[in-house]
Amino acid sequence: MSLPTIDHRGPEFAYLGRKVLADMGRIFQTVHPVMIYPASGTGAWEAALVNTMSPGDHVLMYETGHFAFLWTRLAKALGLNAEVIAMPGTEANGTPTSWRHGVQADLIEARLREDTAHIIRAVCVVHNETSTGVTSDIAAVRRAIDAAKHPALLLVDTISGLAGADYQHDAWGVDVSISGSQKGLMLPPGLSFNALSPKAIEASKQSTLPKAFWGWQEIIEMNKGGYWPTTPATNLLYALSEACDMLLGEGLPAVFARHKRWSEAAKTAVNAWGLPIQCADVNAFSPILTGVVVPDEIDADQVRRVIYERFNCSLGTGLGKIKGRMFRIGHLGDCNDLTLIAAIAGCEMGLRVSGVNLQSSGVGAAMDFMQKNPIPALSI
Ligand code: PLP
Repeated sequence: MSLPTIDHRGPEFAYLGRKVLADMGRIFQTVHPVMIYPASGTGAWEAALVNTMSPGDHVLMYETGHFAFLWTRLAKALGLNAEVIAMPGTEANGTPTSWRHGVQADLIEARLREDTAHIIRAVCVVHNETSTGVTSDIAAVRRAIDAAKHPALLLVDTISGLAGADYQHDAWGVDVSISGSQKGLMLPPGLSFNALSPKAIEASKQSTLPKAFWGWQEIIEMNKGGYWPTTPATNLLYALSEACDMLLGEGLPAVFARHKRWSEAAKTAVNAWGLPIQCADVNAFSPILTGVVVPDEIDADQVRRVIYERFNCSLGTGLGKIKGRMFRIGHLGDCNDLTLIAAIAGCEMGLRVSGVNLQSSGVGAAMDFMQKNPIPALSI
């Protein structure tokens, strides 16, 4: 990233441009175009909608957590008619039940079957809900849309899922996949992505929402030569190239297994403490992060503050409707067994200092798990 910035219209740049575009196709598991924007993830959310939708279009959004909620708010701000569905119910501590589970594809199928006039133009779901640590089955959502014989596009936010959890843009029939640089790709914030399908590209030719900077057509044309219409974030692209070499060199199945193993270790620790995990569905545990629910009388942000101030470990806060009820342990990207054990140790000490009664040592349980389940030997 600290290499000198080269001329983004010169010949050397075209090599870098073509390389990162091809690499990102392999990361998204697609043969179709990938857009790379110098923007945070929110920009790529907006790009996905303004390129495919027209003013007043009806979109079906599924609320799995705070990021799904924010995407809905953005869709409404763009003038779309955003309908929200979710699993019904509220937990005893006030958490919406849908914030503890993945997308229920049957609810989407039922809603699409009702829509015989096909007014719903897109189904929007979050693959890995960063606010809760719950992963959704995207292939099941595609099957639901197909079972209902509905023409809606499938738009998926995999901002925190990509390069940590398995993600197959083409095989799962996703029309627009949205991601960002700062999670599984191990980079600073500042790049975001749209992976497209041929159907999404066709939709972009009909869509009339205003778009200039985000417009796909000009970018697709310029990308063929390895360039962008506007100034690219050259140094972040150097870093992206390196990250892709690391991920593809390790092999995506090994990357996914590594994250799943960390998630198992974190889950083992939280179970040993005797605290609930935000994700209530064993099949939906995120390989990327684990949400820890604190007892009702405890403020999770106060626990986070203790862990930060006393042990110099910064944890994710509970967001939106679950603020103060939980905190998040990240185990993604540039992480290893010992950094995760250290984070669990910081949590264990901080929880005890904050007066939480723990059943047993999560650190011991996680260490035991890691010892008994070694990372498969690297094939060098
Ligand atoms: N979607 C998800 C799942 C996220 O985790 C985030 C950010 O953490 C966003 C959207 C928003 O992206 P950004 O904050 O990069 O604009």
